[in-house]
Amino acid sequence: MDSSLNATRRARELAEIRDGVVDVLVVGLGATGAGAALDAAARGLSVAAIDAHDLAFGTSRWSSKLIHGGLRYLAGGQVGVARESAVERGVLLRHTAPHLVRAHPYLLPLTPAVRSAQARIVMAGYRLGDGLRATAGTPRPLLPGPSRLTAERALRLAPALRADGLRGALLSWDGRVVDDARLVVAIARTAAAHGARVLTRCRALTLCGDGAQVRDELTGAEFGVRARAVINATGVWAGGLSPTVELRPSRGTHLVLRPGALGGLGAGLHVPIPGERNRFALVLPQADGRIYVGLTDEPVDGPVPDVPEAPESDVAFLLDVLSSVLREPVRRADVAGAFAGLRPLLSAGDTPDAPDGGRTADLSRRHAVITSRDGVVTVVGGKLTTYRRMAEDAVDAACPTAPRSRTARLPLVGARPAPGAEARHPGVSPAHLVARYGWEAGAVQELVRRDPALGETVVAGITRAELVWAVRHEGALDVDDLLDRRTRIGLVPEDRAAALPAAEAALALGRRKGDLATPERVHEVTERDHRDKCDGDLHTGRLT
Ligand SMILES: Cc1cc2nc3c(=O)[nH]c(=O)nc-3n(C[C@H](O)[C@H](O)[C@H](O)COP(=O)(O)OP(=O)(O)OC[C@H]3O[C@@H](n4cnc5c(N)ncnc54)[C@H](O)[C@@H]3O)c2cc1C
Repeated sequence: MDSSLNATRRARELAEIRDGVVDVLVVGLGATGAGAALDAAARGLSVAAIDAHDLAFGTSRWSSKLIHGGLRYLAGGQVGVARESAVERGVLLRHTAPHLVRAHPYLLPLTPAVRSAQARIVMAGYRLGDGLRATAGTPRPLLPGPSRLTAERALRLAPALRADGLRGALLSWDGRVVDDARLVVAIARTAAAHGARVLTRCRALTLCGDGAQVRDELTGAEFGVRARAVINATGVWAGGLSPTVELRPSRGTHLVLRPGALGGLGAGLHVPIPGERNRFALVLPQADGRIYVGLTDEPVDGPVPDVPEAPESDVAFLLDVLSSVLREPVRRADVAGAFAGLRPLLSAGDTPDAPDGGRTADLSRRHAVITSRDGVVTVVGGKLTTYRRMAEDAVDAACPTAPRSRTARLPLVGARPAPGAEARHPGVSPAHLVARYGWEAGAVQELVRRDPALGETVVAGITRAELVWAVRHEGALDVDDLLDRRTRIGLVPEDRAAALPAAEAALALGRRKGDLATPERVHEVTERDHRDKCDGDLHTGRLT
């Protein structure tokens, strides 16, 4: 089945679910809900999956983008959680999303504030993490082991570090997703390719074990959806639909620094937080040149907002921590934007290994699957890295007689050539597209070949073609979807303002009737053109 999501498909499938019964209704389309929709659809079940807003509207787009091996949990003695993370990291790197998830290096600068004994303990932890990698079956070439670098090499990778007193750095590797929201889109489209009806702008008003009352947020129309099983995957909002679930959200803030703010940064940084043991701020260079700096961990009480705000106190704290290891302090003017997300942590009462009333940083990152008395299955907690396992556990609980999960070896859209079409190898497409679209890069580039104006860069390295592609194939329904989730242009307010006209133009062009080419069809055309070109090159003797 076609993996494309767009307004036409939404309208058709919305009409279908109003009159029918599905095996599984999934509520929430973050990583967990999209994962549950894929897991259930790949088992052969009929699925409807809805989100009140958009794909990746919630916490899933506010992560640090680490696909981590669980080292932090190992340090806290949570061996099971750590191992689960390491296994799922391997699944993403090797099988399901090798086009979106890659190994990334991190430096821990050995400044005078890091004593030698502490450095030895951290290195021992890195080695344990490397052991976990091996037991999880992830080969070394995919995720290199840790090592110690001289000060000279550390400064080559991170020239902005303060050289005075620098004894070198500890180098470690972990997984990293190119963009968390893109991962969710890929999961949701893969679910759609397996027949799931993936419907954004549909809010569940109430849930029960055999369905939900739903509102189409585009028209205001309310209707019932009947289902044999219901999965609540609404993250920090889960308690609003299933009152038996008690959450204790914690806010994590990231800064977005302007490209070049830290010189030519060739690795991420783990920056020790002064006065804390084993807590580090993260510095994460992005493909578009921007640099994210995170991460706070503050308990949040009260109603859960749609989009959390990053308070100025978090911004000041992160700037101070980062500046503590730099030659020149980072200035407030280097901060181009900031974002905050709420971790859907279970309250201490729901986590057997967490001390009652403990700090949210100490609470378990383990997920939970909770079945309410009326049969609604809620899946919550966990992390982006383990979305697949969370989804599998939720579908196992909701549909105990269904066939076993198949998702551990199921490539997401873009990880392999589209079925039924010999795609051209992504290596011949522009590198920035390959990094974000994998095997679909050629199909995105084909839009530019047909209309060269679409090759123009809008902002932050994103082309007009990518915006049109998002409307036709990735379910973007408005400019917010385009700028805040299909691309991350919106993380910097001035970039967002500059890109608005291009987003509006892309929506108009993308919706034009009769031009909704499927990725499979575009791949076929691309492959034919590619063969023609190669034949031409052979005749002119240009192919070596
Ligand atoms: C700051 C921060 C950094 C993090 N960094 C990492 C990291 O680097 N690596 C990692 O592995 N994990 C990380 N995590 C954890 C990870 O991001 C989350 O655990 C994960 O994204 C949660 O996904 P989810 O699908 O469960 O929830 P969400 O992504 O929040 O999805 C819930 C969805 O439900 C929808 N919804 C809500 N109510 C309704 C309703 N009534 N009807 C229909 N839909 C509804 C929302 O619109 C939303 O799209 C981080 C978390 C935070 C906060």
